Amino acid sequence: MGYIGFHASISGGLHNAIDEAVAAGAEAVQIFTANQRMWKVKTPDAGDVKLFLEKRRKSGIRYAVTHDSYLINLASVNPDILAKSRMAFSDEIKRSSMLGIDHIIFHPGSHTGGTHEQGITNIVTSLKAALKELPKGGPMLLLEATAGSGSHIGGRFEELAAIIKKLKRHPSVGICFDTAHVFEAGYDLKNNYDEVFNEFDKICGMDRIKVFHINDSKTVFGSHADRHQHIGRGELGEKFFAKLMRDSRFKELPMILETPDEDGMDAVNIKLLKKLRSSR
Ligand SMILES: [Zn+2]
Ligand SMILES: [Zn+2]
Repeated sequence: MGYIGFHASISGGLHNAIDEAVAAGAEAVQIFTANQRMWKVKTPDAGDVKLFLEKRRKSGIRYAVTHDSYLINLASVNPDILAKSRMAFSDEIKRSSMLGIDHIIFHPGSHTGGTHEQGITNIVTSLKAALKELPKGGPMLLLEATAGSGSHIGGRFEELAAIIKKLKRHPSVGICFDTAHVFEAGYDLKNNYDEVFNEFDKICGMDRIKVFHINDSKTVFGSHADRHQHIGRGELGEKFFAKLMRDSRFKELPMILETPDEDGMDAVNIKLLKKLRSSR
């Protein structure tokens, strides 16, 4: 079940990501809409946008999602970083809307020296402003579940739920469930699959999940250390992914690989997931 895809490169042009996705057999794709290492980036010109939209339409790719810049920290207690982050996030919304992106995925952020409460307050204020800028029919904003290391917010389901609740359960706010992060954060998806999803459902509501980041984990259960591994080659193992791929609750969702960028491995991971999806 699910629409399988991976994070594709936009080097040489946004549309190249679509070609790369199609070549690897993907049904969904994740991109950066601009250079993710720079605060100020240029808006794609009309020609680039047109080419991307055309290619996507012809490709049959069901979902196109974006991951925001790693520089953005909507939880920061540093006023300068927070202001820059909000500006860059607003630009991300503009670019994603132009490109017909379905979902913008972002890490909730890190309070870096404050408290989790302060961090959550900053995220909520940041998102309230962002939601006002969302065009009608535009992308959804998805908080990514994190491995919960140090001052990073989003390692507990309760933290994600608190943010959503403070946003009055806004329909444009959802969750990206990263299998590696959740396992690393201390939820044993491998041995307690049903319990973890039941707990998630009770705290956040299952229908908040709009995207899966489908990654195996290089680090052990509860490590709080975020290292992705190829499907079936990490601590979660193939059996877990077989279960997830056949879980009918998630059959309409994009399943995006963020496994190590190594020669030809995206196609290998996609092929394996397709096999697990169709096996009984
Ligand atoms: Zn992820
Ligand atoms: Zn990660």
